[in-house]
Amino acid sequence: MRPEILFPLYAPVTSLKGVGPRVAPLLERLAGPIVRDVLFLRLHSIVLRTPAVLSAALDGQIMTFEVTVEAHERPRSNAQPWRMRVSDPTGYMTLVFFGRFGDGLEKRHPVGAKRIISGKVEDQKFGRQMVHPDYMVEPGKADEIPELEPIYPATEGLPARRVRTFVLEALERAPELPEWQDAAWLARERFPAWRAALARLHAPEGEADLSPLAPHMRRLAFDELLAHQLAMAQRRAERRREPGARIEASRTADDIRADLPFAFTGAQERALADIRRDLVAGERMSRLIQGDVGSGKTVVAMCAMADVAAGGGQAALMAPTEILARQHYETIAAPLSDHGIGVILLTGRDKGAARAEKLRALASGAVQVAVGTHALFQDDVAFHRLQMAVIDEQHRFGVAERQRLQAKGEAVHLLAMSATPIPRTLELTVFGDLDVSRIDEKPPGRTPVATRAVPSARIEEVEARLREAVAGGAQAFWICPLVSESEIIDLKAAEVRAAELRERIGPGVGLVHGKMTPQAKDAVMADFADGKLTVLVATTVVEVGVNVPNATIMVIEHSERFGLAQLHQLRGRVGRGRRESACVLLYDAPLSETAQKRLDILRRTDDGFLIAETDLELRGGGDALGLRQSGFPAYVFVDPIVHRDLIAAAGDDARMIMDRDPALASPRGQALQVLQELFDWKANMALKTAG
Ligand code: ADP
Ligand code: MG
Repeated sequence: MRPEILFPLYAPVTSLKGVGPRVAPLLERLAGPIVRDVLFLRLHSIVLRTPAVLSAALDGQIMTFEVTVEAHERPRSNAQPWRMRVSDPTGYMTLVFFGRFGDGLEKRHPVGAKRIISGKVEDQKFGRQMVHPDYMVEPGKADEIPELEPIYPATEGLPARRVRTFVLEALERAPELPEWQDAAWLARERFPAWRAALARLHAPEGEADLSPLAPHMRRLAFDELLAHQLAMAQRRAERRREPGARIEASRTADDIRADLPFAFTGAQERALADIRRDLVAGERMSRLIQGDVGSGKTVVAMCAMADVAAGGGQAALMAPTEILARQHYETIAAPLSDHGIGVILLTGRDKGAARAEKLRALASGAVQVAVGTHALFQDDVAFHRLQMAVIDEQHRFGVAERQRLQAKGEAVHLLAMSATPIPRTLELTVFGDLDVSRIDEKPPGRTPVATRAVPSARIEEVEARLREAVAGGAQAFWICPLVSESEIIDLKAAEVRAAELRERIGPGVGLVHGKMTPQAKDAVMADFADGKLTVLVATTVVEVGVNVPNATIMVIEHSERFGLAQLHQLRGRVGRGRRESACVLLYDAPLSETAQKRLDILRRTDDGFLIAETDLELRGGGDALGLRQSGFPAYVFVDPIVHRDLIAAAGDDARMIMDRDPALASPRGQALQVLQELFDWKANMALKTAG
């Protein structure tokens, strides 16, 4: 239930004075539907209204002058504006007024009168002017002009100054709220109280107040982070309260491991130990294994599934595409079945009697491990005793889909796997409700991929080298990303490229693109995986995780358009085997300095986490879209770079609160409930990531 104290902030924007049916949709688009959203609007900039002399006037700047009215020039027709000539000892300017003013202007500002004017300077063909000054007052009333005025985002039909009046009214309605921050922390950080922080946000005292480092800005960011971290900590605690089956580490799994032709890396050991600790704890597990493509996540999951099977339960491994599901099946089927664990592959391709047979085996418990796609959570799929769901590339599934799979058993343990590298500093904001194990170590014996940036003008050289390599038995990916506004044009470009490569290299050039059916895509990918095709041209990002050990070359056109993490993932698709691999980043010259730096990072390192971290730094906090794509939440006040120290602090604080006062019953706990309501995280997040 929403605390009463927040009612004024949850009123619709139409409750603000002057927000009627015309303005409301504009304001909603700018801020949001409720008064709280208007209160949370961020300034765009501030204007300093300290007076200057006319000779210092600059075109396009908002400036303030003390002037004398020299002359009025009446309009000769209604279409013309009223002009007023003003001066100071250093120069002249014309003030321009549209509309019908009659003699009003002349009466109010007679020739010879001194006025302080403030507004935007424009240098026109006919001289310097100011159209409708923002302020025009007598020198005695100079204090009517705020020295420093916040400028808000505006939209067509809703100028920034109107927006400001709404914001100020929203601020007036904002109540003092009970303090939810720890007193010692507040003192240490010199944070103002919540309402005071907002007041300062909307009435900055100087440029420094606009900085995200200003104490009131950090306070607001920390509030937001704490609300979010607390919501995630609560969800984690809730899941843990549900008892999960106790599953012991098994001899079977250890034997399977011992039979593998390689030894686990230290990071794999640690990940498996983390999982085993979760599984015997008697609570439901929610763990994520993060690691680059090829870091060995799947074999770790396989051992955990063997533990489940050895204990008499069943496990399901779900992948987003059929080809990935098949590859997982091929990785784990033999090691598991060699030790008496039955494994089936279930995809959309299974039909009729064969499918019925598989379903029977799952329902009876004759088979302990199912690997598959979306086919796994269909209604008629039943398990005898599903105890663990392993979800590969979990962000590619909806919450509902994951839940449908987990609902096929009781308090099913969740093991998620992700190859999308999230910078460590942001991990808490994206996966705060999961326990994370990182596999940050590659299996030995991989040769690093030689990475080169080449201007696209030299594409023919690249093609010639590729022909030689293919003649020598190599396989290559060639990525033509979507770059134009039109998918049709991009598709055409990819088709042209494929045709050209066919001409230069030979008939074994295949093409996959986003407009193909999943079946058709899978078929081409399978041909490539089987070696029937030598070059695979792709418009969309080739399915993450596809394993084609013989593919040793990756060519990426327009590489400057990709995010670094994406380039890294693409590159990860080669260099799987022991053979030398190469990645060619084609770019359109000239490269910006940042683009240059980003491509350099890729040449220097192969560590996905380091790349993600650097990418974040190079992009700065501005690239909300790129961050959103990697799962970063849409915060109002938080800047992921500048406030990164606060992310960790909020995470610690949230966990401590959950330990000490899980019901949020203490006075601070109750204040924290208000905070959570204020930021809505409870409601939003429950929908977004429950399960
Ligand atoms: P991921 O799921 O992280 O992409 P996989 O578990 O599929 O990685 O492993 C990729 C490949 O590396 C597989 O062929 C696997 O057998 C092999 N592999 C896994 N762990 C190791 C290791 N420690 N040493 C050598 N090879 C390994
Ligand atoms: Mg994988």
